[in-house]
Amino acid sequence: MRAVVVGTGAGGATAARKLANDGFEVIVLESGKEFKPFRRLLSLAAPFRRTGLLGNEKTITRLFPPMDTIRSSDDLVLVRGMTTGGSTVLSCGNMVRAEHGLKEIGLDLTPEFEKIEKDIGVTEFPRKRWQPITEKMFEAAEKLGLEPKATPKSVDSIKCVSCGLCELGCTTGARWDSRRFLDDAIGAGATLYTSSPVKKVIIEKGQAKGVTVGSRTIDADVVVLAAGGIGTAQILKASGLPAKDNLWVDIVLTLGGILKGANQIKEPPMTWYTKHEDYILSPYLDILSHWFHKPWRNVSIEDRVGVMVKLADMEEGAVFADGKVQKVIKREDHLRLDGAIGEAKKIMESAGVSGPYINGVHNGGHLGGTVPLTNDDVDSMKPSWLPEGLWAADLSLVPRSQGLPTILLASAIALKVAEKISERMI
Ligand SMILES: Cc1cc2nc3c(=O)[nH]c(=O)nc-3n(C[C@H](O)[C@H](O)[C@H](O)COP(=O)(O)OP(=O)(O)OC[C@H]3O[C@@H](n4cnc5c(N)ncnc54)[C@H](O)[C@@H]3O)c2cc1C
Repeated sequence: MRAVVVGTGAGGATAARKLANDGFEVIVLESGKEFKPFRRLLSLAAPFRRTGLLGNEKTITRLFPPMDTIRSSDDLVLVRGMTTGGSTVLSCGNMVRAEHGLKEIGLDLTPEFEKIEKDIGVTEFPRKRWQPITEKMFEAAEKLGLEPKATPKSVDSIKCVSCGLCELGCTTGARWDSRRFLDDAIGAGATLYTSSPVKKVIIEKGQAKGVTVGSRTIDADVVVLAAGGIGTAQILKASGLPAKDNLWVDIVLTLGGILKGANQIKEPPMTWYTKHEDYILSPYLDILSHWFHKPWRNVSIEDRVGVMVKLADMEEGAVFADGKVQKVIKREDHLRLDGAIGEAKKIMESAGVSGPYINGVHNGGHLGGTVPLTNDDVDSMKPSWLPEGLWAADLSLVPRSQGLPTILLASAIALKVAEKISERMI
């Protein structure tokens, strides 16, 4: 029984591992190349940054192709990993269970969350290694009654050198990413092909029969799309199937302030967070804004302090067959972001961070919702409009935005899908 798994991120690597362990012949197709962390950007970029010669966010993709950026509207940049490990290799290693909207469709992922947390090994980053300003902002958030908590992380603090650049790839192997599950899958017999972007699913008489990669076709009994909220939707649309215009991205906006010698960069991002109904706040030095946002340009990285808002956005946005994405920040999102930024400012003010307080770039890297599960789909873990033999196993299945880290969710939902595939096929 042959399964083709498309994508090697949180969803794809988890599904490939489970299917390979269950005895499927697994072929994994990854659009990007083998991941290598980027080591030179700080020293390389500094002289260009002040003069504005770095250009816009597309420069980062040119220098560091695994970090793909898409401008989906004038004021929103979407970020994803196009490489082995998908977006997990760019992650900050935050491991929080995100479950918004799951109860409403009758989906309980508790056993899958438990299993994956155990496999990954989730822990907190030692508080004695937080920078003083991060500690001060934590205490300020406590005094404001915001109940901050240390963020559960998949970072081995012994290997971590506190370079603060998790999003450019971990150079010491301290931070977990889904390549570890991919290696397990390969160990169990799966075959990985990199530089293999899938164009379409081959469908005959209502049954998925394989995929096309360039001019090649690869036959399969089961096709599992785990190319992320954008990639999976693009492949479906190119195959004539109606992915939904329900894209959500969890909009991130970082408020920047100034504190001389704060050195917030010298710690892993987001060591603590406060949880609100539809957003979180967390200490974060947004490198995208630091390098490419003009209003942030005249403050050095050592003196910059940031607090991030990560907002559960309105689930509205479209992906097209050619990969273009249309997603705007709705008025309601702006209003809720304004309120949350007000809270971030209070934390920074009471911790002694000075202004001018300036918003960074609106961006989103949690891409989901384009193949949303409904109540009726949960028994099979497969939207009814997908042909026989075709499955999705990534964040695209999640109907609601989260405003929370999403690796555990993508991985847990993919595990549940893979369990169903095994149940059905073997
Ligand atoms: C900068 C950044 C930091 C983040 N930090 C965190 C964090 O700390 N904690 C957290 O929980 N979440 C974090 N996230 C979000 C998290 O990484 C994603 O939500 C999660 O990885 C989604 O899993 P996925 O399988 O749906 O997609 P992805 O992990 O993005 O995987 C999609 C895969 O599909 C491949 N692909 C795409 N198109 C094709 C195609 N046509 N053919 C073949 N392959 C294709 C891609 O190359 C990729 O390997 C972060 C995201 C970003 C961008």
